[in-house]
Amino acid sequence: MKLRNIAIIAHVDHGKTTLVDKLLAQSGTFRENQKVAERAMDSNDLERERGITILAKCTSVQWKDTRINIVDTPGHADFGGEVERILNMVDGVIVLVDAAEGPMPQTKFVVGKALKLGLRPIVAINKIDKPEQRANEVINEVFDLFAALDATDEQLDFPILYGSAKQGWMAESPEGPQDSLAPMFDLVLKHVPAPQTEEGPFRLLGTILEANPYLGRIVTGRITSGTVKPNQAFKVLDAKGNLVEQGRISKVLGFRGLERVPVEEAEAGDIVAIAGMVKGTVADTFCDPLVEGPLPAHPIDPPTVTMT
Ligand code: GDP
Repeated sequence: MKLRNIAIIAHVDHGKTTLVDKLLAQSGTFRENQKVAERAMDSNDLERERGITILAKCTSVQWKDTRINIVDTPGHADFGGEVERILNMVDGVIVLVDAAEGPMPQTKFVVGKALKLGLRPIVAINKIDKPEQRANEVINEVFDLFAALDATDEQLDFPILYGSAKQGWMAESPEGPQDSLAPMFDLVLKHVPAPQTEEGPFRLLGTILEANPYLGRIVTGRITSGTVKPNQAFKVLDAKGNLVEQGRISKVLGFRGLERVPVEEAEAGDIVAIAGMVKGTVADTFCDPLVEGPLPAHPIDPPTVTMT
């Protein structure tokens, strides 16, 4: 299975949830009447209302022979490095901007992090159906914002899609064709590189931690190298390379549509959730017992793995 890992960065109300719903509806594994009513990334509304910690969500859509993992990014500035860790799991970002409002300062932080990590953005101008849309100006504003955030020439040469998430289309021109999100799927496959993987045994950098009433601790992250299966032995190293714990993986969960499903095996490049740890946490490395030393802070840096 071919893979792409992306994040969608959008100011609140610019249409991220609507877009993901429509991507799901138009993708291979999902039909309009299935689940989509739940609203892809809004399942944490209740938590949000109660002011409980909001978990980042992963969704996946399938286009042709490729599964696209879509990681939700917290919209706010953070101080714990969460945004950076989450963006470290992806190889490209879609910056979704309301065609009337233009880029908003609240997303600057996340966009800046994405650019700094070397991710090449796709800009999607949404809500082109609004009579007050001003797509051309908004594109200039996005360009200026990227430039102010020290984007490289390559990043500034971003592909642009125009469309209406609500109407379920994105196209290379504001005029359309106004019938599907195929141009967005195709652009993601073309513009976003396949995940870089490394040789070697299983390694995953813990990125999102949650407590599950049935499975206990669950850690989500991207597999940097190797494969992971349920029942596999693993160890956990902290950022300094100290041993945190050793154990066996109890479950490997893959993201399929809005669901998280147990899988028999997951490969390097994929984003999965694993269970079976007691202490292991975010920023720890979950790996084969043979691995020595922590993951590099940035997966794009060369790995520092020594085999015993
Ligand atoms: P999010 O906060 O970024 O997830 O935004 P939502 O997807 O919840 O959308 C916010 C509002 O904008 C909702 O009322 C949507 O129906 C509306 N919306 C989303 N996409 C479009 C669009 O393409 N055109 C118009 N006119 N409204 C849209």
